[in-house]
Amino acid sequence: MPEETIFSKIIRKEIPSEMLYQDDLVTAFRDINAQAPTHVLIVPNKLIPTTNEVSAADEQALGRLFIVAAKIAKEEGIAADGYRLIVNCNDHGGQEVFHLHMHLLGGRKLGRMLPQS
Ligand code: AMP
Repeated sequence: MPEETIFSKIIRKEIPSEMLYQDDLVTAFRDINAQAPTHVLIVPNKLIPTTNEVSAADEQALGRLFIVAAKIAKEEGIAADGYRLIVNCNDHGGQEVFHLHMHLLGGRKLGRMLPQS
């Protein structure tokens, strides 16, 4: 079994978060260190450490991440101007919390996707 992260505790409401949405498959809450006016994390309730561990059994939950991202973007008033969805994986992707999550970022012009190198 993969090791639980703080996100499992947030999902179970054992530690506080600014939760925006929860259903049987996914949970969405505001990032504690917001990088944009809207910065929400949308996570499958099931612990999947990284995108390397996704399987066909996860299709519904992973699809739900996009459904909920679009719903929250509308609620936050950022849908028309646009936003960015990011899923980081492992070291080169800059992943810090090993419970797969989608970042929803918006509310300002985000600039280039990657810094030029
Ligand atoms: P990543 O680098 O893709 O793994 O992103 C992890 C994100 O989780 C970072 O943006 C953190 O600010 C965020 N984060 C870590 N702990 C918490 C927490 N307790 N509540 C909300 N967001 C958190």
